Amino acid sequence: MALFKTIENLDEKENQDKLDSGVEKVKCLIIGSGPAGYTAAIYAARANLNPVLYEGLEPGGQLTTTTEVENFPGYPDGITGPAMMEDLKKQAQRFGTDVRFGIATASDLSKRPFKITIDNKKVVEAESVIIATGATAKYLGLESEKKFMGQGVSACATCDGFFYKGKDVAVVGGGDTAAEEATYLSGICNKVYLIVRKDYLRASKVMVERVMKTPNIEVLFEHVTKEIVGDMSGVTGVILTNAKGEEVKKDIHGFFVAIGHKPNSDIFKPYIDTDEVGYIITEGSSSKTKVDGVFACGDVMDPHYRQAITAAGSGCKAAIDAERFLGTQK
Ligand SMILES: Cc1cc2nc3c(=O)[nH]c(=O)nc-3n(C[C@H](O)[C@H](O)[C@H](O)COP(=O)(O)OP(=O)(O)OC[C@H]3O[C@@H](n4cnc5c(N)ncnc54)[C@H](O)[C@@H]3O)c2cc1C
Repeated sequence: MALFKTIENLDEKENQDKLDSGVEKVKCLIIGSGPAGYTAAIYAARANLNPVLYEGLEPGGQLTTTTEVENFPGYPDGITGPAMMEDLKKQAQRFGTDVRFGIATASDLSKRPFKITIDNKKVVEAESVIIATGATAKYLGLESEKKFMGQGVSACATCDGFFYKGKDVAVVGGGDTAAEEATYLSGICNKVYLIVRKDYLRASKVMVERVMKTPNIEVLFEHVTKEIVGDMSGVTGVILTNAKGEEVKKDIHGFFVAIGHKPNSDIFKPYIDTDEVGYIITEGSSSKTKVDGVFACGDVMDPHYRQAITAAGSGCKAAIDAERFLGTQK
């Protein structure tokens, strides 16, 4: 019996047999349960693609690590990240998405049906795959950073900058992201300290110039973060070590970590193109990867915006692209 069958030929008994033997066939497999994955699921389910979605290690994605979300349209009073993600999950399930706990641990995208291994054991054979695995923010690894996460420590100025309106904040990092975050915050906050380990900024020339020309950004070259300090109200300061080994304390209310993200694309890399950081490269403004039938959406393919609403928008595109692709395979 041929391993590959067309979608119309999906035979329930055969599927059950494969399920029992650790292999299952699905039309549309969605990997990731952030705003991109759930939006893709809502659209795919409503298009009758019977999507199966694996949640991964972080069910609900990055927003489950934050409290208030004030910039997602449709919530005039704001909403907590976990509550919003629960809403998205319910909406995806309402149309029949099969949401499962499990991590994609390996992929074979060399030919259709694509084979995705879940939790190192079960194999799912998918006619189409939507990768929505997000990008994980890198942190410094300090205990105090963990302690004040969401209470003054953030990895997203666009998301959380507004909470520090008129206050003093610090950004740590020396690349383009840090320069962009500092510039963004300079328009909202009273003062921005940019903490840079080296004696220069790695950011592009244009970003360096912009930072240097901004009067309320003070660049602290050759400074390393030792500890973030605070109280019940959240962060109140940061202790740094300068090039001479002296301790320097700055009073701040927000501490923004901007030392990069790691796109969760490793298991797909042998088959699809990524940039040097690991962001999946898609075709033009679509969600198409270089493998026909494999689509990417959300932060895993977006080094620029990394917002819930842009992730959701690209999840919608991925489901529409998958539906159109599957339509051509009948
Ligand atoms: C602290 C914080 C606060 C934020 N606040 C805001 C805000 O206020 N407004 C806003 O618009 N944005 C905010 N963001 C950004 C926003 O969370 C992201 O842009 C958005 O979540 C990206 O959505 P995504 O679906 O692409 O990925 P993610 O939300 O990162 O979700 C990725 C999903 O993929 C899953 N996954 C990863 N690898 C695998 C695997 N191998 N197998 C199966 N599943 C896998 C994970 O478990 C997770 O469910 C914030 C981010 C952070 C960190």
